[in-house]
This record gives sequence, structure tokens and C-alpha cells, in this order.
Amino acid sequence: MPTALWLQCGACGGDTMSFLGMGTPHLPALLEELEMTLWHPSLSFGNRVSYETLLNDLRRGSRPLDLLLIEGFILGGPAASGGYDTFRGESKAVIVQELAAKAGAVVAVGTCACFGGIGKLGAIDAIGLQFFHHQAGGLLGEHFRSRRGWPVINLPGCPVHPTVLQDTLCAVCEDRLPELNDYQAPEDWFGILVHQGCTRNEYHEYRVEDNDFGGPGCMFFHMGCRGPLTYAPCNKVLWNNRNSKTNAGVPCFGCTHPDFPQDHPFFHTPNIIDVPLELPDGVDRAHYLAYKGMAAAAAPERLVKRKSRV
Ligand code: SF4
Repeated sequence: MPTALWLQCGACGGDTMSFLGMGTPHLPALLEELEMTLWHPSLSFGNRVSYETLLNDLRRGSRPLDLLLIEGFILGGPAASGGYDTFRGESKAVIVQELAAKAGAVVAVGTCACFGGIGKLGAIDAIGLQFFHHQAGGLLGEHFRSRRGWPVINLPGCPVHPTVLQDTLCAVCEDRLPELNDYQAPEDWFGILVHQGCTRNEYHEYRVEDNDFGGPGCMFFHMGCRGPLTYAPCNKVLWNNRNSKTNAGVPCFGCTHPDFPQDHPFFHTPNIIDVPLELPDGVDRAHYLAYKGMAAAAAPERLVKRKSRV
């Protein structure tokens, strides 16, 4: 049975909540496959001494570690000491480096562990496992490979989508490395924009816009929706098999993006004369402006009416 250790660093616990939200039958079935009892902060019990003994055994290599899951960013500060996040006085950055060197596979769970995430909002030198936002490197360095010869598998999201986590854990248990994109995230889940599959696409197409929460229109032009710039499966596999932010009338705020969080306020689209500064990924500005101007003029009555009814 593969062994797994889940370690929290600079984390709010949101990815653990998402993991627990996997619910039945998936989570119990996964736990039967994985010896997660090695340690998970919300699933394991035991005293400090047994936890310390476990960590020491894993670091020495006297117990095998197949899968290391890290939740939260790594705190490098102050002054590169790692002293902001320690276990028994030792920097977690050092503990993670040693465990990663022994692990068969390393998974960064959530945007903070992948890229540093919201750690950039504080002066704490927060980094991800193998990236610092869009730059390769991070704690383990660009060339790090686990015992199986794999890079860190990044599962971004604030929090990670439970289905993405479940699917990746199943692949790793089968000794299978998913195909990864440039940011080392599984292509199957992160090769699609949030925008693709959003129920508001027709409104976007004709620039029928919303400027408040909960309406039916597109939220790109005024409300800061980052769906056209963010690669994530939120509209491919719904949360709780039920819904997504954009379907519910809340703008995507790009939580899987390597540079998350953005530098400007959420729920607001920076624009000049009503034209967003950031356009959908890969779209040429001149063509987009010409097309959107014509599309708005061509908006069908049924869409405009449907929006004005809300
Ligand atoms: S609300 Fe966002 S994700 Fe949906 S169509 Fe508009 S821009 Fe795309």
C-alpha cells in the first residue's frame, strides 16, 4: 500500500477542507488505497512524540515515503532563516527539502504550495515548492526530481478542486505521471480556460454585461471576471457536482493563476474608456476591439431582454 504524508506549511487549511469535501465514496476509497495514516493533520491522531518519530524515520529513509503532499507556501523569512514557520524549532523549509528528496512523488496542493500564492501579500519571503509565481525555482529548484524521476506535480486552486486532487492521487497510486503543462499542472484539468464552459458565454460574445452580482450577463467587462485568462476546470467539473462561481453569478478571480493574487482589487475590471486592460488569453487587442464593437451592436433582443428582466 502506498504511503502518504500531508504536511501543512503556510496554509489556511482550505485545501484540507476541499480534500475532506471529496466525501463518499471517493475519500474513504482513496484512504483504503493510501496509507494516509502516516500523517494528515485532520485525519490522523497520535501524540507529538509519535509524529516526531515518524518524521525522523521518513527523513532518515528508514520508512518509505511514496507520496509527499504539501499544503501552503514555504516561508523563507526572516532573512532566509525559515524561522517564521518551524516545527520543534526547525525550519519547515528544511524538513520539506529532506522529505522531498526521499519521496517517490511530490504534490503541491493548492496555489500557495505551487507558486507562493497569497504569501506575496506579506513580507515573509513566501515561495512555492518549485515555482515562485511564474518563475521556475521555488524551494526545491527548477531541476528537482523525486525518487520516481518526476517534477513536483502542481495542483493550483484556492482551494484545489477535490476532483483534481482525487484524480491525481489515483494516477500517482498507479505509478502514472499525468501529462503536465508548462507550470507542471495536469493538462487534463488545467488545459482549459474557466471561460470555456461558462454558461454566460453567449453574453460575453455579444458584450451583454453585468455590473452587479447574481445577474445573468457576462462579468468580464466591469466585474473583474478572470475566466478568459485563467486555466482551471471549474466549469468542466462543477464544485460539489453542482455549481461554479461564474455559473452562480460571482466573477472568477483567477485563483489557479501562477501570479495569483492579482495586484488590483477583486471584482473590478481595470479599463480605459470601457475597454479592459487585460484581454482574453492570446487575443489580439485591435481585432478584439473591432469585433466587440460590432458584436455589441448585433446583440440579439432575446439576450438583452433576458438580462434586463433580472
Ligand atoms: S462570466 Fe467570466 S467566465 Fe463567464 S463568460 Fe463572462 S468572462 Fe467568461
